[in-house]
Amino acid sequence: MTQPQRAPGGFPVVGVVGGGQLARMMQGPAIEMGLQLSVLAEATDASAALVIPSAPVGDHTDLAAVLAFARECDVVTFDHEHVTPAVLAALEAEGVVLHPRPAALRFAQDKLAMRERLTALDVPCPRWARATTAAEVEAFGETGWPVVAKTPRGGYDGKGVRVVSGPDDIADWLAQVGTEGPLSDGVLLEERVDFTREIAVLVARSPSGQAAAWPVVQTVQTDSICSEVIAPAPGLDAELAAVATATALRIAGELDVTGVLAVEMFELPDAAGRPSFVVNELAMRPHNSGHWSMDGAVTGQFEQHLRAVLDLPLGDPSSRARWTVMANVFGGDYAELYPAYRHVMARDPGVKVHLYGKGVRPGRKIGHVNVSSTDLGDARARATHAADYLGGVIDE
Ligand code: ADP
Repeated sequence: MTQPQRAPGGFPVVGVVGGGQLARMMQGPAIEMGLQLSVLAEATDASAALVIPSAPVGDHTDLAAVLAFARECDVVTFDHEHVTPAVLAALEAEGVVLHPRPAALRFAQDKLAMRERLTALDVPCPRWARATTAAEVEAFGETGWPVVAKTPRGGYDGKGVRVVSGPDDIADWLAQVGTEGPLSDGVLLEERVDFTREIAVLVARSPSGQAAAWPVVQTVQTDSICSEVIAPAPGLDAELAAVATATALRIAGELDVTGVLAVEMFELPDAAGRPSFVVNELAMRPHNSGHWSMDGAVTGQFEQHLRAVLDLPLGDPSSRARWTVMANVFGGDYAELYPAYRHVMARDPGVKVHLYGKGVRPGRKIGHVNVSSTDLGDARARATHAADYLGGVIDE
């Protein structure tokens, strides 16, 4: 079926551009809430297309396809941040209700725009500069190499991030400055932050301005990819938690974000040795750092995102357990996942397994597990074991 079937009772249809796992994970709460989802999917076997009856296939770069899709929906939101400003502007001009709106989404799509805006708002950021020439890179690095160079647009999971010791390391990027593409406006340079750990604040905000924040979490990256999230961040200074949360809520308000906003931060000591933070980047959609909330919070991020984009009253974001640990599952080198899946459930009935219906390829993110416990060590050990078992890293 390509057209969304309207539920009786005046319930709106929510459209999601992109048929990935985030759109898929909205379907569980949508069903429970009596809401109708429709996704514009990349392919008939896209993660979300497998579970959402209304899943027309179309490319997010194809304006005609996106428009035809959006006309059948009451509000449109996103599975990813790759819909171009030109397509977004055309949708807006046609009267499509978008959440987040393009004016906000821009700051999650373009890291240079994000750095400029956050700096104007006095939000703590790593020292940064825009570089368009080798001389500018050289000048930025004078206070100390290495520095971190980033492509402003299109990066994810560490792709588009390089630790560099001089302009030669990004000669290929500098050559693309001024041409069409992710480097048209220059390269983003940042000091390499000597952080203690990475934390994230997830908030949701509705068009009428109601906002809610989940507890601050710690994110653990392996090879620049998030592997584990601990909710709440263990041992986090209470004042830092309050300031970080207030900052995320302020960013959501100032940027007029609608839906879920993830603010990724580096924790580090300030000049006086007190715990502090700088913001790394923003994501305006449900985010990996919020997957724990599906089982660990009164209101999970996918339900909250739907409430927010529909301007419904928001749900309670507080934790349901002392600790919840999320571990991502990466595909292993095996023929069948199902035997491992059954084993994990048999070994530990407390593990909540979430799989995305994606084909298994080594290293591909295919799901996650959540474990709640009164003991942090217990939750981490069980979550890691289950994720490693599903990923074929261990077999006992
Ligand atoms: P992506 O958009 O690919 O997720 P990020 O900007 O989040 O890129 O960077 C990926 C990872 O690189 C971060 O999680 C962090 O570990 C590291 N990193 C990014 N910026 C800096 C920085 N300024 N200093 C130190 N490490 C950084």
